[in-house]
Amino acid sequence: MKFSWRVILLWTLPLLVVGFFLWQGAFPGAVGDSGRNTASSQLSYGRFLDYLDAGRVTNVEIYDGGRTAVVEAMDPDLDNRMQRLRVDLPGNTPELVSKLREEQVSFDVHPPSNDGAIWGILGNLIFPILLIAGLFFLFRRSNNVGGGPGQAMNFGKSKARFQMEAKTGVVFEDVAGVDEAKEELQEVVSFLKKPERFTAVGAKIPKGVLLIGPPGTGKTMLAKAIAGEAGVPFFSISGSEFVEMFVGVGASRVRDLFKKAKENAPCIIFIDEIDAVGRQRGAGIGGGNDEREQTLNQLLTEMDGFEGNAGIIIIAATNRPDVLDPAILRPGRFDRQISVDAPDLKGRLSILSVHARNKKLAPEVDLEGIARRTPGFTGADLANLLNEAAILTARRRKDAMTMAEINDAIDRVVAGMEGTPLVDGKTKRLIAYHEVGHALIGTLRPHHDPVQKVTLVPRGQARGLTWFMPGEEQTLVSRAQLMDRIMGALGGRAAEEVVFGHAEVTTGAGGDLQQLTAMARQMVTRFGMSDLGPLSLESQSDEVFLGRDLMSRSKYSEEIASRVDAQVRAIVEHCHEEARRLIRENRAAVDRLVDLLIEKETIDGEEFRQIVAEYTEVPEKEQYTVSLQS
Ligand code: ADP
Ligand code: ZN
Repeated sequence: MKFSWRVILLWTLPLLVVGFFLWQGAFPGAVGDSGRNTASSQLSYGRFLDYLDAGRVTNVEIYDGGRTAVVEAMDPDLDNRMQRLRVDLPGNTPELVSKLREEQVSFDVHPPSNDGAIWGILGNLIFPILLIAGLFFLFRRSNNVGGGPGQAMNFGKSKARFQMEAKTGVVFEDVAGVDEAKEELQEVVSFLKKPERFTAVGAKIPKGVLLIGPPGTGKTMLAKAIAGEAGVPFFSISGSEFVEMFVGVGASRVRDLFKKAKENAPCIIFIDEIDAVGRQRGAGIGGGNDEREQTLNQLLTEMDGFEGNAGIIIIAATNRPDVLDPAILRPGRFDRQISVDAPDLKGRLSILSVHARNKKLAPEVDLEGIARRTPGFTGADLANLLNEAAILTARRRKDAMTMAEINDAIDRVVAGMEGTPLVDGKTKRLIAYHEVGHALIGTLRPHHDPVQKVTLVPRGQARGLTWFMPGEEQTLVSRAQLMDRIMGALGGRAAEEVVFGHAEVTTGAGGDLQQLTAMARQMVTRFGMSDLGPLSLESQSDEVFLGRDLMSRSKYSEEIASRVDAQVRAIVEHCHEEARRLIRENRAAVDRLVDLLIEKETIDGEEFRQIVAEYTEVPEKEQYTVSLQS
């Protein structure tokens, strides 16, 4: 605990107060107790009764619950002058009262003296009060410190767990390269802007739109743009934030969110990563997750609970529609599904133009060339790329971004940060052979992507890299292309074997082998590209969706399984043989390229091809896709 004035006060104040009362207790009668003591002298009870019988008493005041009395009586010893005398009474004496009435003496009974008692009562209460006050302060303290132990006290009350933006400031123009999605979402904007137009003709306004696509393709931006275009508030929450430690928190967050949204309708609710809550109920190892299911149920209840014309449209984003609970996709819920894919060449160009708007580019910079070199990049990757280039420009103290910065930024985004250079030696030589092996196969196989460059500079995990020319992405890949890719992936290991011998091969090819095995396996089990025939034996997602897929995993017999293994091995062995043959037959070219690579650390694709062409015929290439071989 931090030592602060608050703490000092908290502990010394009670001590002072308690001390005060202890002192009070040690000196009773120091305060209060007035009246009684004004009687100057004492009278015994017996004498008092005598006086009473003699009719000398004129007035009696009884105090202390009948234990003391102050008596006014005429004293025969003092010329019958009136005296005030104090009498100690023997406690509760009802007969005294009747006697006083008999003698017609005026009397009065005073309740026990109060001024002392109040303090006494307070003294009894002071400890509990201090305790409660202390706890209260402690509680407030811990509550003020965000994220402290006080946090546990307000679970359920979702404090700023969802964000609200009154104005997103994003418009459709800011989101580039996803024209189809934008067109479909344009409709949602009209629902929000002019619902009457639709309800007038009896059309039901959809409640939910599901955006499907990989991360970074602009799904959040699109949702914000809808809000921006329609001029309505934007509520957002991530599916993973719904699901928390405490059961019931997610559900109450959903309630809160919808309550706020209804207060602010028309509006957009955006749920990112809806698969975090929306996975199939009852799936998963060890039974379902209660919390998640409750949250999902609450979400569905809320969605069913308002009419389409309430002015709330829920937009959810996911990368994995396949794992979603079918209940989510039922009509009346997320019945519109729009896919937002990684952009094509034209899309990338327009995204680059959007993000280049606020950057200083040298006139030579060719955005189309960049778009061509970056297939598979998402909008977020491209934004990141231009930002990295801008950082490099600033670091190099240039006025405007040139192609040099952009090329470096692409390399960095694709393959990671540059590491420390390799030291000369046997390892460097082996890595050089490995890379030249990849590049040679890539150059000589007719269906392999052409080499863009070979580098001996470590980047990310890799110590050397062969970069292949990124052509436009393809959706269809032929058997010949797959075979050539497997061969190319084996090129590194094949060169190690041919040059250094079987005993000297290294672990460096581990990543290559993993890739090519997966490719060969898919050729057999998914694409029907082996002697096993056109059978689909495995589903698309490699990732096992725990619980569901595990059950339906072994769809084929053990006999088929062993034939699959044999086919995979046959493909890989054939490619391995072919790769070693190509290396052996072009050993002279390989040796020369390795020397050059060690000297220069980078060989450009064009130069590489020219050197190889001096030794053998290099096939022409047309189609290619992006890839990278370490
Ligand atoms: P998602 O929600 O699909 O993961 P985001 O919408 O959060 O992706 O995008 C992240 C960032 O990437 C955005 O802030 C934007 O800078 C950039 N971006 C992504 N897609 C696009 C696009 N289509 N047009 C312009 N910028 C984009
Ligand atoms: Zn390799």
